[in-house]
Amino acid sequence: MKLLRHGPATDEKPGLQLPDGTRIDASGFGQDWNEAFFADPQNLDRLREWADANAGSAPVLGDDVRLASCVARPSKIVCIGLNFSDHAAETGQDAPEEPIIFFKATSALCGPNDNLIIPRKSRETDWEVELAVVIGKRASYVSEDDALDHVAGYALHNDYSEREFQIKRGGQWVKGKSCDSFAPIGPFLATPDELENVNNLKMWLTVNGEQKQDGNTCNLIFNIPQLVSYLSQFMTLLPGDVISTGTPAGVGLGFDPPQFLKAGDVVELGIDGLGQSRQVAVDAS
Ligand code: ZN
Repeated sequence: MKLLRHGPATDEKPGLQLPDGTRIDASGFGQDWNEAFFADPQNLDRLREWADANAGSAPVLGDDVRLASCVARPSKIVCIGLNFSDHAAETGQDAPEEPIIFFKATSALCGPNDNLIIPRKSRETDWEVELAVVIGKRASYVSEDDALDHVAGYALHNDYSEREFQIKRGGQWVKGKSCDSFAPIGPFLATPDELENVNNLKMWLTVNGEQKQDGNTCNLIFNIPQLVSYLSQFMTLLPGDVISTGTPAGVGLGFDPPQFLKAGDVVELGIDGLGQSRQVAVDAS
């Protein structure tokens, strides 16, 4: 199943993308795709049954309808740093011995095709195509063997990063990761059965039509079971939480000279099986 959310930011509603690509409103199911929904593993089965019975009669969403983040605002967005060796190398750092983790403010969450708002005083706004994991069942001290039982699905994410805020302003990376619109997630959450092999998905990103990133999830240093298990040793992962698993080489910071985004730039990205997204950069008001 492919779960999406839609509507204006002040009134987002649940929806589904059907196998033929049609998008429908799923308000009739009676739940949003939030912590309460993901907490009960049977809800996905109930939703499947609802879709079988109601997809034909549910309102169809036109192409003009805004897509929202495919999950409602979670308790946390945990990101993994330097999880591709080629990306670690382009930033001049060694591949980590343990996962590097940091947070992104949940207020950064936005729709997959919303504008990227370049923050005030930004000079180094950068892109990062990433595979996002959405937690299903609550995870605390889970083993790697059991980790995938705690995954509800996967989505496309652009882990936007202001490098000056992140690296040159002291303290933690969170400052450069949390600005409004820095977490476009979607177009949809794909349940695991939708993907043939989550460990072999091509991922790409272009800026103004020029390819910048061209990676594959097979090159993750720490894979998804390792990350879910590892994080759950330090914090409880709640249903609906997002883990962004890291970006491959080709970020703006890695070019010589570095390349950063300016108003008017168009960023497009995608991952096999998880669709595509597109953001237009605008200056903060
Ligand atoms: Zn990242």
